[in-house]
Amino acid sequence: MAKTFRGGVHPPEAKLTASKPIETIAQPDRVIIPLSQHTGAPSKPTVKVGEEVLIGSKIGEAEGFISVPTHSSVSGKVKAIANYPHPLGRPMPAIEIENDSRDEWIDLSHWTDLTNSSPDEIRRAVREAGIVGLGGAAFPTHVKLSPPEGKTIDTVILNGAECEPYLTGDHRLMLEHPDEIIEGLRVIMKVLGAARGYIGIERNKPDAIDKMSEKVEDEESIEVVGLKVKYPQGAEKQLIKALTGREVPCGGLPMDVGCLVQNVGTSYAIWQALKLGKPLIERVVTVSGSAVKSPGNYMVRIGTTFSHVIEQAGGMDEGCSKIIMGGPMMGIAQHTDQVPVVKGTSGMILLSAQDVRIDEPGPCLRCGKCVDHCPMRLVPNEIARFVEKGRIAEAEAYGILDCMECGVCAYVCPSKINHVHLFKIGKAEIAQRRRKEAGKEG
Ligand code: SF4
Ligand code: SF4
Repeated sequence: MAKTFRGGVHPPEAKLTASKPIETIAQPDRVIIPLSQHTGAPSKPTVKVGEEVLIGSKIGEAEGFISVPTHSSVSGKVKAIANYPHPLGRPMPAIEIENDSRDEWIDLSHWTDLTNSSPDEIRRAVREAGIVGLGGAAFPTHVKLSPPEGKTIDTVILNGAECEPYLTGDHRLMLEHPDEIIEGLRVIMKVLGAARGYIGIERNKPDAIDKMSEKVEDEESIEVVGLKVKYPQGAEKQLIKALTGREVPCGGLPMDVGCLVQNVGTSYAIWQALKLGKPLIERVVTVSGSAVKSPGNYMVRIGTTFSHVIEQAGGMDEGCSKIIMGGPMMGIAQHTDQVPVVKGTSGMILLSAQDVRIDEPGPCLRCGKCVDHCPMRLVPNEIARFVEKGRIAEAEAYGILDCMECGVCAYVCPSKINHVHLFKIGKAEIAQRRRKEAGKEG
């Protein structure tokens, strides 16, 4: 039996680009690099309009511990620092850089390999390179590598599940850069003093399982594990349960059960930063769906507009009626293709009208399907009802904050209730109330 967790669903996979090698796309004429692409405080600009920059130049400084610096992904001139469309919804401050197409990097000729440095030096270098979780959450990696005193991490898990339909970037990275990913895992294990490493991969990627297994054949401390194909197999808590049997408590974090989870792409970025001195200036983006002409996996500079990437992927079909950043289950629908690729852009899914259904929600039938499938063992119908009625304290008591917004409940709901939308509203209200309370106490 392949390892897995309780609950979840089996959406159609549609991994159209699994066999498409990662291609580097033509550079754009300009990039728009948001100062906020990560969880935590946005970075603060360190350049002025008119300044010349190179690839890898720092253009934004981290503000506080939960923040990372921002780097230029092209060589050229800073054209503007202003608010620009952002894939998370509202416009946000960003730095626009005109590309001089010289493709000139900062001087890395004196870089010395840091993979064998001390844990503190590694954390510093990972932070300076602007590395965040590339699975979509974009949480600063140096923070994850710095557990508070008293927390011991004995197990590091690399997430190669890639359970969202359509997305195949992690799959390709594992096939094309297995050594670098594994080297990144060894570094993470060393920094945390973890004795055990797992690489969890869904069984719909047998070639990646074979390739990664072959690479760790002689290593006792690292194991590649084939996981059941089920959404959301790649969610942190579900991955930990499937691989170690440990359950992260409600409101808890992976470190509470001695685990740390990183995406395979993040491990690759860590290797690039430490070995080559390269900050995070590009990432793999899967461009797929029924309304794109040449679906594929593309290496894209951060700050490239969606429109440029789509054009490089052959353009969109006339009938395209929805663009999603990320996968179709947890991704974010975009209102314009002028938003830039950010560190958390794992995919761009273009869907034609026949693949997009907007159903009017009906009343809850109390069928219990959402409860049966919720991987967090919540009661989504009740929580949704509480939020609708403004009974937020009850929604909180029923565990709304433990909801990871995976969308499984909405996916199985015969009444097409948009649970995730309601949960976002409920969570925002709780956050607002907590801010107010903190303000009063302060
Ligand atoms: S969105 Fe939240 S409530 Fe719904 S299935 Fe996922 S974790 Fe459970
Ligand atoms: S799946 Fe939908 S209809 Fe069924 S109990 Fe849950 S919210 Fe109600």
